[in-house]
Amino acid sequence: MTEFPKIVFDVDNVLANTMKVFCEKASKLIGFEVTKKQIRSHKIVGSIPLPPETIFRIQTEVWSDWAVLPVLERNLYEKMDSFKKIGFEVYIATAVPSKLVPYVEKWIRSKRIPFSKFFHCSKKRPKSLIQAEALVDDSPEEVRRFVSSRRQGFLYRQPWNINSKVAKAIVVQNLDDVLRHYGVEKGENGVYRDIRWSGNG
Ligand SMILES: [Mg+2]
Repeated sequence: MTEFPKIVFDVDNVLANTMKVFCEKASKLIGFEVTKKQIRSHKIVGSIPLPPETIFRIQTEVWSDWAVLPVLERNLYEKMDSFKKIGFEVYIATAVPSKLVPYVEKWIRSKRIPFSKFFHCSKKRPKSLIQAEALVDDSPEEVRRFVSSRRQGFLYRQPWNINSKVAKAIVVQNLDDVLRHYGVEKGENGVYRDIRWSGNG
């Protein structure tokens, strides 16, 4: 049977619901409600009436408060654990500024997300250089770069990428969609299992 790939998961707005907390903090500052739907780019700048330096400051606050930062999907631990148990090699990658990396690591550990490697990415060391076969990310640019080297990209659906087209990428609404792509389904007993059939040898 085919082995499961090394798969990279982005953190912000794939595993962690950072934009939700960002919008709550930004709303207080602006004086009216800002929601995720109004965000036009995962980089935020230009989507709301706040200067870039204020946006960066709020983003820093969001990660400094890592202990109260929510997961994006219900049962995240269960899903991530299934990737590992079924045979994927789970990599975590983030492109947050260096000073926020310790918070991201604490958050990942506090959620007990199993992973074998952690990558701190930057412009010079982008996610597309990671030696892995698949990437799950909400950034169309990251997914596009990854797919361009003939690997599997999953564009994680968020309001800011709703109109983005990335050739050959697969759009997913959640992590179950990623598992399903590899023939892994959640059974009635709540356990994920590999339902692929490769015949009798
Ligand atoms: Mg992201």
